[in-house]
Amino acid sequence: MRLLIIGAVAAGTSAAAKARRNNENAEIVLYEKGSHISYAGCDTPYFIGGVIKDVKSLTPRSVDFFKKKYDVDVKIRHEVIKIDLAAKTLTVKNQDQDETFVDHYDKLIIATGAKSVILPIPGIEQDHVFNLRNIKDALAIDSFIADKKPQSAAIIGSGSIGMELCENLKLRGLDISMIEQAHHIHPALDPDMSFHLEKQLLSHNVKIFKNTRTAKIETDHILTSDDEKIPGDMVIAAAGVRPEVSLAVEAGIKLGETGAIAVDKYLRTSDPDVYACGDCIETFNLVTKKASYFPLGSTANKTGRIAGDRATEGNLNFRGVLGTGIFKVFDLSVARTGLSERQAREAGYDIETAHIMKPDKAAIAGGQELIIKAIADRKTKKLLGVQILGTEGVDKRIDVLVTAMTLGAKVSDLFHLDLAYSPMHSTAKDPVMYVGMVLDNAIAASQTQ
Ligand SMILES: Cc1cc2nc3c(=O)[nH]c(=O)nc-3n(C[C@H](O)[C@H](O)[C@H](O)COP(=O)(O)OP(=O)(O)OC[C@H]3O[C@@H](n4cnc5c(N)ncnc54)[C@H](O)[C@@H]3O)c2cc1C
Repeated sequence: MRLLIIGAVAAGTSAAAKARRNNENAEIVLYEKGSHISYAGCDTPYFIGGVIKDVKSLTPRSVDFFKKKYDVDVKIRHEVIKIDLAAKTLTVKNQDQDETFVDHYDKLIIATGAKSVILPIPGIEQDHVFNLRNIKDALAIDSFIADKKPQSAAIIGSGSIGMELCENLKLRGLDISMIEQAHHIHPALDPDMSFHLEKQLLSHNVKIFKNTRTAKIETDHILTSDDEKIPGDMVIAAAGVRPEVSLAVEAGIKLGETGAIAVDKYLRTSDPDVYACGDCIETFNLVTKKASYFPLGSTANKTGRIAGDRATEGNLNFRGVLGTGIFKVFDLSVARTGLSERQAREAGYDIETAHIMKPDKAAIAGGQELIIKAIADRKTKKLLGVQILGTEGVDKRIDVLVTAMTLGAKVSDLFHLDLAYSPMHSTAKDPVMYVGMVLDNAIAASQTQ
């Protein structure tokens, strides 16, 4: 059995490792057009900030590692330029030798990932304007700061990458302006939660421009559509990503409604011998059961493993996502899962919301306030979504609530969880239990009115 995999970062390498565990004899080859493999894209902002000193630590696994540990051939700087579904072949360009060849597969896994959105703004092509998607981009940003010594950075987009860069560029001594076209920053949060994030950025002297469209990028500033000048010796365009699906489309593989590759629960594409995983696929939302696109490393690793398993006759199924995400900006962690209040209302749910402010642990242990917003469905009495901000313990609470949501708990079940407690770690009634108690009471009250 010959298994070919296109793309060798999170999803492709996870697929290869699982395929090898299932099948000792398969020939497994990964084609990667870039020079770096199996890297932690999530770490790159911290390399730019100088928190990670050595770029080599971003790529802990080499081509040799995959050969030795998994007997998998990783061919870097090899771009797949065509998939022929009828002949079951790939046409591959070896970029170093400028030659092309054809390779045959029995099963194929597409793990081509995503690419940064290139904003259609005049001036975007200049040398001081950057995206951050991979190690090459991180090295370019790092060198620019070292060589040109910019004083100011304008970050277009306030998603999690924009936020992480905000902190890390501050660490390099730059003045930061964050530009967001929506009414509030980090639009994945509801406005009442975004307010707390905004306070955090302002307290670190980050300038925030909401409702602001970039009209033009000049050499040392951005010109907005209201003719305002925002300083920017360097500019980061962090306006999201799109799935990299050009090869799949040319081959005739079907896309889903989000524009990413459509897959079934076995991660099989419209061609039964071709699987897909990672940032190039469409997933589905566990709450709404609707198609969704959540390009995250957590999901890429998971879907890679499932695709590798299924391509080698395993029996793992993909169970969908809640869209859980977390990031840190300065000392604040921000997490979310499921639907925001706006999304829940748009989806037609009759909702109850709760706002809870409770310390993450006892005062004697330096407990810090967690700000939690939880949204529940009055009909099913289940959580629809949660947003949490705080300096400590955010990750633990979001993950407990994600687990409860995934397993179908009702809000009344949260109080009964036997959670770990000591004053050093929590409070006797954990904030998770308060979420359940407050929502349970509120839903009961709404039903007696
Ligand atoms: C700055 C940053 C921070 C992030 N932080 C987080 C985080 O904290 N948490 C989280 O969950 N996620 C995070 N992510 C997202 C995470 O990095 C991605 O979800 C993950 O890398 C996706 O892995 P992937 O293998 O699907 O795709 P990619 O990482 O995009 O890799 C796809 C690979 O396929 C190759 N390829 C494409 N086309 C071809 C072709 N035709 N031939 C050969 N090779 C090809 C590409 O060169 C690329 O190397 C972050 C991303 C960035 C950029």
